[in-house]
Amino acid sequence: MSEWEGDERPTQPCVVCGAIPDRTVDLPSRPDVHLAFASGALCAECALLAESGAGAGLTARARANWDEDEPAQGIVTLVLAAFGNPPPVRIRSAPTPLSAQDLAIWHGLEPLMYDGPGPEVVVRGRISSADADGEFVVHRAGNRARLERADGTPIMRTDGVTTWHFTDHGVISAPYRDDDGMGGVGALAFRRTRQEVDAFSFGTPIGPIEATTYLDRPAWRFAFAAPPHKPYDMQVVVDAETGFVLDRKFAGGSHTRWLEFVTDEPSDPALFRWDGPSLDRAELRAGRDREHQQDMARRASWFADNVAPGLTFAGARLEVTLHEWDDDGSFQASCDTAEIMVTLARRPRSPGWWELGWSTVDYRWSDERWDWAMSNFGDEPVDPDEVAAFRRQLSSAGP
Ligand SMILES: [Zn+2]
Repeated sequence: MSEWEGDERPTQPCVVCGAIPDRTVDLPSRPDVHLAFASGALCAECALLAESGAGAGLTARARANWDEDEPAQGIVTLVLAAFGNPPPVRIRSAPTPLSAQDLAIWHGLEPLMYDGPGPEVVVRGRISSADADGEFVVHRAGNRARLERADGTPIMRTDGVTTWHFTDHGVISAPYRDDDGMGGVGALAFRRTRQEVDAFSFGTPIGPIEATTYLDRPAWRFAFAAPPHKPYDMQVVVDAETGFVLDRKFAGGSHTRWLEFVTDEPSDPALFRWDGPSLDRAELRAGRDREHQQDMARRASWFADNVAPGLTFAGARLEVTLHEWDDDGSFQASCDTAEIMVTLARRPRSPGWWELGWSTVDYRWSDERWDWAMSNFGDEPVDPDEVAAFRRQLSSAGP
């Protein structure tokens, strides 16, 4: 028996910390966790922490593995629950009704944040974003916008009619939409829209709403309550004159803020236009389809050259879609006929853990040169005799 054939560990990494797992636990579902996780694979150390209810230790390991706080908190809650332990304590204020004074401020502030003060607001400034890892230069005039990196690399421009997105596939033009600025640095460069608040919550203010000064401007400091499935409230500073959010942070570490916010300078309309070449969405799609077909042809020829041309299963020709491959001959691929849908993988024989990332491995075997794995992810069972015949084909076909 090869090491691979005797390896009973899950092939997905520890769902908390990403290390090599040694067991799988059943993750329960909980009303306060809105995310699904690919597996319940756990390493020995995380299992020990979960068993002893060490929420803080688990959370530290999860945060180091997950980029975002929400999945980290979610998986820690589920893993603790799998061992019958309560979730870690969360930092969240219970939203209490605003005081009469705060309510009066909020009645003026809410429409100002969505719609602005009426006259067109012209802003020039810089935004720093911990999430997007950098500094950005922003120009705004009404609904017109220009966003670029501090080094001058353009990100987007809009003249309020057409929006140009500067992407790796070239400049994409599209009709302007209210939510063009949603997400990322746009969160501060643009006003929040009512749709955005409907979709992502954080629309309920928590008092007190305090008068403050930010970048030498009169402003309001307060927080928006986290919805039940988010761990942290959103703390904001809102410009009292324009309604722009000047500073936004979550206790989990995400922090975006204006470093410079200058209003009322004259701005050049040419700033908000792009006159160079651009593609519309249909042209972009056609280009991507072409690239996709070329890519599929490259994958098919790698498989034919390095694994086998013209494999069959139960007498039917297999359609192979190669997902991953490497110079050492390892690969993962989907293999389909009209009847079956299996996933096939191979690597050079190795005593090490194999991170296949599969929830189950139905068949594992090794020949002189390779470790093999196969799983049936289709609805129909596969015939074991056909699997044996398929294995013989693979062994004899090798280059
Ligand atoms: Zn772990």
